[in-house]
Amino acid sequence: MNRGTLATLRDLMPNRPLRHVEALRIAELQATRLLAMAGITQPPVPDWVITNVPKVQLKRMSPWPVSGCTDWAKGTWVVIVNGSEPRVRQRFTLAHEFKHIIDYRYIDIAYPSLPAFSHHQRTEVVCDYFAGSLLVPRPWLKKAWCSGIQRLPDLAMKFGVSQAAIQTRLLQTGLVDRPQRCPEANPGFRFQRASASTHEAGAAGKTSASTRIPKRVVNKTLELAQVSATIPEK
Ligand SMILES: [Zn+2]
Repeated sequence: MNRGTLATLRDLMPNRPLRHVEALRIAELQATRLLAMAGITQPPVPDWVITNVPKVQLKRMSPWPVSGCTDWAKGTWVVIVNGSEPRVRQRFTLAHEFKHIIDYRYIDIAYPSLPAFSHHQRTEVVCDYFAGSLLVPRPWLKKAWCSGIQRLPDLAMKFGVSQAAIQTRLLQTGLVDRPQRCPEANPGFRFQRASASTHEAGAAGKTSASTRIPKRVVNKTLELAQVSATIPEK
């Protein structure tokens, strides 16, 4: 690790507006490069991969009103994470905030708003994607999965992240499929009368509270699922 770490990662970022899939691919490339520069080859990824980067400092605050934030003060990037949140969430927050630091110089042009995504939403999704790629690298997850480690708690323990983070990476890497919302999308589905109530409510233009998902979250999921199909195997 040397003073050029941030510069090296920023060099991977084109200085122009990015398509969303392109932005995610670059985020994963940066995560892979950071691990290579640190010489980390297996999980769990240690925090020092980030905290050893020159001019980056980690502080834990408790209580703290948000999961994390980053500030530039006296020539140093100070990442503050909520010390009262679970350790796995703090690790993810640190990685998320580090991507904000990498992107600082490009933030105004890299992620213009899209019809389904505001600039802010795109930025947050890309930072989450970087964090997932750093803490749960695609080839490591596939290796673990193929070796027979397929239970969420086991994978979460191995990678030092939450089970939700593992679930997201399994979807992004295509190791598991996203559940279909409607049976029409699955030709092999056979309609079961006893469990039809939710579907019928949907057909009538209603959605039960248990299945209602904010539109922006659905859009993000669709975008990320698309990425998992377009990123080449490594
Ligand atoms: Zn953020």
